[in-house]
Amino acid sequence: MRTLISYITASFVFIATSWNVLGKEIAKDENIYEQRMELYQKAEAVSLIPWYYFAAIDQYERNVRLVRRDLPKATGALGIYIPPERWAGPLNRNKHDTNPFTISQFGGLGMDGNGDGVANPNDDEDVIFAIARYLQTYGTDHEHLKIALWDYYQRSKTVDLILGKVKIYKKYKTLQLDDHAFPLPLHANYTYKNTWGDARGWGGRRIHEGTDIFAHYGVPVRATCYGVVELKGWNKYGGWRVGIRDINNTYHYFAHLNGFASNLREGQIVEPGMIIGSVGSSGYGPPGTAGKFPPHLHYGMYKDNGYTEWSFDPYPHLKMWERAEKMQKKQRG
Ligand SMILES: [Zn+2]
Repeated sequence: MRTLISYITASFVFIATSWNVLGKEIAKDENIYEQRMELYQKAEAVSLIPWYYFAAIDQYERNVRLVRRDLPKATGALGIYIPPERWAGPLNRNKHDTNPFTISQFGGLGMDGNGDGVANPNDDEDVIFAIARYLQTYGTDHEHLKIALWDYYQRSKTVDLILGKVKIYKKYKTLQLDDHAFPLPLHANYTYKNTWGDARGWGGRRIHEGTDIFAHYGVPVRATCYGVVELKGWNKYGGWRVGIRDINNTYHYFAHLNGFASNLREGQIVEPGMIIGSVGSSGYGPPGTAGKFPPHLHYGMYKDNGYTEWSFDPYPHLKMWERAEKMQKKQRG
């Protein structure tokens, strides 16, 4: 009995601490969002390029940096990293040049954005100003900005990811888009357990890249995040499936659907809880094949790091979103 009580007490202490941490984190986040928005708007004011282009580039780079070990960690509010040879100019012998004049002589991107006479690659204002000036040399309209992004990143996937974020920020006019929803309505009957990495027989040696959520045919399937529909269609493994890219460069994959929501289309913006289709058993054969296994939603998550994409375990995220949604419901009463 005593152990039980102390266990319960310990859990309460733990819950209280994590809430506290969470509260503080939220406060800090709101402040950082304001700081970032201020920088994007300053860049818009000097370049006439809408703020959401800067927000999208910054958000893309921040998330690449978070998953890459070869890039230094961000120190300011921005996530954009301009490598030394780009900042100083490719032929500049001084890779750490901070003199705006010599940098411009060597065709570097480095700029003095805050007027202190120094082009500092670790200063947020200098960095955003450098990006603004670079984009501006191409023009301020969407088509020219697209070319600017292509020239800068030389990777069409990256350009697509950034332009997806541009659309999302433009629509919602805020940077705070971190809400999530569980893919099935919580009142539906469903079960799932952690099966990530299990061996799969069909179609050669593969591992199970996702979590299977078992439910009845026709249970609504919902978007779990703010994002853009990147893919909608048939695949012999996944059947009818939808892929959604969120603002953190993460791809959310929904497979074996019975069908799609009536006007769902590629390129569409979705938000947490929006119905995108329903649970089914499609897949494991040519288009139309269904019923080879019990109905379930296969949910996968993939991360892009600027070079490539890899699968990671969605199970902890599903648990977290489910818990958060339950808590929200309780609070609303
Ligand atoms: Zn599965």
